[in-house]
Amino acid sequence: MVREIEESLAAGSFGTGRRVTVPTIYIVGAGLSGMALAESLSRPERGAPVRIVLLEGRPSPGGRVSSYRESHTGQWTDNGQHLFMDVYSSMLSFLDRLGTRSRIVFPTPFSIDLLDGNNRPHPFSLDPKLGKIGGLLGVLSFSGLSLASRLSMLRVGARMSSGMLKEEMIDHLDAKTFLLNSGATHESIDRFWELLVVSATNLSASDVSAALLLRILRETLFGPGPSLIGWSSVSHRELVIDPALALFERRGVEVRCKSAVGRINLSGNRVSSIVVGESELPLSPTDHLVLAVPPWSLERILPIEMMDGELCQNIMRISFSSGIVSIHLWFSGPVVLPAIGGFMSGPIHWVFNKEMMGHPASSGEKLPEGENYLSLSYEGKKAGWRGSSFLSLTVSGVEAKDETSEEEWLDRALLAVGRFSRGPLPGLVHHRVIREKMSTPILGPGQSLYRPSNQTGVPNMWLCGDTTDTGLPATMESAVRSAHVLGETLFPLLHPGCGRQ
Ligand SMILES: Cc1cc2nc3c(=O)[nH]c(=O)nc-3n(C[C@H](O)[C@H](O)[C@H](O)COP(=O)(O)OP(=O)(O)OC[C@H]3O[C@@H](n4cnc5c(N)ncnc54)[C@H](O)[C@@H]3O)c2cc1C
Repeated sequence: MVREIEESLAAGSFGTGRRVTVPTIYIVGAGLSGMALAESLSRPERGAPVRIVLLEGRPSPGGRVSSYRESHTGQWTDNGQHLFMDVYSSMLSFLDRLGTRSRIVFPTPFSIDLLDGNNRPHPFSLDPKLGKIGGLLGVLSFSGLSLASRLSMLRVGARMSSGMLKEEMIDHLDAKTFLLNSGATHESIDRFWELLVVSATNLSASDVSAALLLRILRETLFGPGPSLIGWSSVSHRELVIDPALALFERRGVEVRCKSAVGRINLSGNRVSSIVVGESELPLSPTDHLVLAVPPWSLERILPIEMMDGELCQNIMRISFSSGIVSIHLWFSGPVVLPAIGGFMSGPIHWVFNKEMMGHPASSGEKLPEGENYLSLSYEGKKAGWRGSSFLSLTVSGVEAKDETSEEEWLDRALLAVGRFSRGPLPGLVHHRVIREKMSTPILGPGQSLYRPSNQTGVPNMWLCGDTTDTGLPATMESAVRSAHVLGETLFPLLHPGCGRQ
C-alpha cells in the first residue's frame, strides 16, 4: 500500500488515475508528540496519502526524551531517567508501532526500597496480580510509616476511590491540602506522599493541583489494581528516536532538523505561511499546521494577531516550568544497590542502578557466565558483581531559577549513594550533571482550566503535546495521547471521503 501511495504521489495521482491534491501537514516539533502524530497520520492502513513534514529546531528529534553520546563510555546515554507505567496505553502502542515495546521492562511484583532519614531501607511492594488487595497489602506492610500513618493512607485511598469525588471538584485545591483534608497524617505526607507527588508531577504537593494527584492515584495505587512501573532497557535513542526515523523513512515522512519555526503568518482566519530560518513556506488551502511544542515555545511563535486572545493568555498562564536534575555517576568498581532506590527525605529523590536496568557501565564489561544485566538480581549482584558501576540520580521539582553548582549536586549525589550502599564507595571515574530546566509545565491548583485543547480557533492550525487538556500530568503518556486524539480528528479533515482507521 505504501508503495502504491508512493508511486501515485510520484505520478501526481492516487488510486484510479484521478489527480488528487495531497495535503501537506507541517508538524512543528519532533518530540514524542510530534513523532507520534507523524506515525499516526502516515499509517499505511489509512489508505490515503498525506505529505508529512516534521520541522524540528534542534539537531536531532526527541525533545525532552533525548540521548547524547557519552564521551566516557561511547554509549547513548539519556538526558534523565524516564519511568513507564503499564497504564501508559498510548505510549506503549506507539512503541508497538516502532517495534520496541519489548524493551520496556515491568518487574512484577514491583518492589522498591525507600530509605528513611536514619538510612534504614523500607521495601514498598505492589503485586498487581492481587488486584485492589495488592495495593492494600503494599500500604499496610510498608514499615517506613507508623501504623497510624498507614491507616491514614487507606482513608485517603477510600476517599479517592469514591465515585462521588470528581476531579473538577478538587482542581482548585493543592494536593497537600487535599491529602490533609482526606485524613492523611503529616508523617505520611512528609515521608511518602511528597516523594510520590514530586516524582509523578515534578511539583511539590503544595504546588500541584489535587485533581492531577487524584487522576494519578486512580490509575495507579488506588485503581482496579495497582499499576506496574517499568523502565526502558535501552536509551531513548534506541527506544524511540532511531526506530521512528527508520519508520519515517519507510513511510516517506520528511524530517527536517535545525529548522526552527520563527513566525506564523495568518491571512484572513487561516495560516498562510510559516517562517523557517530565512525561508517562508507557504501553506496551500488544504494544508495544515500542528504546533507540537511546549507552552514556553508556543507563546513565542503564535501569530501576533492572536496575542490578546484567550488562547494566548491561557498559554502564558501555564508557560512556567519545573526542572529535573539528573546526576550520572560512573564508578571503577561495584556499588551494590537495588535497581531503584528512593529517599524519603531529600534533597535527592531517586537513585537508579543503571546496569541492573540494562544499561552497562561500559561496553566491554564481562558479566558472570550465563547472566545478562536484566537477569542479574540485586542478590546476584551483591554476591558476584565485580565490574564497574553506572548510577543515575534524579532530583525532581527543581525551580527553574535554581543556582546550585555542579560540584554541590555531585557532593549531594555521592552522599546519597553512600547512605544507600553503606560500604565505602569505589573510585568515581566520571560524572555528568544534566539540568533540564524546562522539564514540565507547572500545573498548579485551578490551572487545568487553561490547558488548551487540540483546537486553536484557526481552522488549519492545531496544538499537540503533553500540556494539552488530556487531564494527565505532563508525561510521555499525555504527549502521545494528545497526538493520537489529534490524529483521529485530523485524518477525516484531510480526506473528507475516507473512513476512520
Ligand atoms: C529529565 C526528564 C525526566 C522525565 N521523566 C519522565 C518520566 O519518568 N515519565 C514520564 O511519563 N515523563 C517524564 N518526563 C516528561 C516527558 O519527557 C515529556 O512529558 C514529553 O517528552 C513531552 O513531549 P512533547 O512532544 O509534548 O514535548 P517536547 O519533548 O518538548 O517536544 C517539543 C519539540 O519541539 C521542538 N521545538 C520547540 N520550539 C520549536 C520551534 N519554534 N520550531 C521547531 N521546533 C521547536 C523542541 O526542540 C522539541 O524537540 C520527563 C522529562 C524530563 C526532561
